[in-house]
Amino acid sequence: MNILDLEYSELEKTIKDAGLPGFRAGQIFGWIAKGVTEPEKMKNVPKALWETTGFEEFRAELPDVARVQKSSDGTVKCLLKMKDGSSVEAVFMKYKYGNSICISSQAGCRMGCRFCASGMNGLERDLSAGEMYGEILAVEKETGEKISHIVVMGTGEPFDNYDNLSKFIRIINHPKGRNLGMRNITVSTCGIIPRIDRFGDDFPQVNLAISLHASSDAERSEIMPVNKAYPLKDLIDACRRYTEKTGRRITFEYTLIRGVNDDSKHLDRLAELLRGMLCHVNLIPLNEVKEKEFKSGTRERAEEFSSSLNKRGIPATVRRELGSDIDAACGQLRANNM
Ligand code: SAH
Repeated sequence: MNILDLEYSELEKTIKDAGLPGFRAGQIFGWIAKGVTEPEKMKNVPKALWETTGFEEFRAELPDVARVQKSSDGTVKCLLKMKDGSSVEAVFMKYKYGNSICISSQAGCRMGCRFCASGMNGLERDLSAGEMYGEILAVEKETGEKISHIVVMGTGEPFDNYDNLSKFIRIINHPKGRNLGMRNITVSTCGIIPRIDRFGDDFPQVNLAISLHASSDAERSEIMPVNKAYPLKDLIDACRRYTEKTGRRITFEYTLIRGVNDDSKHLDRLAELLRGMLCHVNLIPLNEVKEKEFKSGTRERAEEFSSSLNKRGIPATVRRELGSDIDAACGQLRANNM
């Protein structure tokens, strides 16, 4: 049993059920949050506890770091191997405001976005809450750095694994553990509408990003099959409900693909679609994926899009590109590219 998969209340119950004092849960939770997962290093926790009947099987387990790649810009990409052999990538990034990690929520992905490398082999399986937590701890151990911000933007569709995602958020937010602020967490979705509504109720303080990438149904369905189930108008309505309910700004990710979504007609439609909304547009020049035919728009085009949107009252910026020399940029993560 992996303790990383337990919420505080579950750990406390497991400990009490084994006839042990409940306060041990807080001690163990605290050690794990600091990256100490070996029982013998948890100094104030008696060794005998780990042999108590009913608790002897519980251990905190991290994924193995199977490969590490370092970018010239300081970004570090780790291939992490789970216990059953499934692997995912996680990316460590340095920003002015602190260190950030981009974690994966699934091994593979079944959303099938045509420009993205993560879903090329479909979905392998969901990650558990503890496996997501393990990505953070393993990368901290590997880099020797402390992580203060988390983006769930790696491989997988987090809202296709909602229950484990929400458990993960509750675990890392718990005051006896990591105590990581909700506002330091960002979740990105390709647009699964019912979960957007639920997320706004469950986690109004967590930042939400929507992968938009197109401004008409025909064009969006062409590159993002999820649009056939959850069309654009309904998606935008859901986003408006979200901002009204939470009072929080929503981020729209718009990847510029040359000749597909980057001409002035696309720009006009995008501005029209988002008019008056509490939002921010994050423009990402496409990161080319070797198996895919799509070509990147230029950074200049992205800047033009950005300034034009800003002029029309829609806040927009071009995303700083990190780690592209090690295939660690948006849309380049995959389960296995050894
Ligand atoms: N499934 C979630 C989480 C992934 S986030 C989602 O779709 O939001 C990864 C972001 O990178 C998404 O916005 C995705 O659409 C974008 N992306 C995918 N492939 C890309 C590529 N080749 N270049 C740039 N961005 C890409």
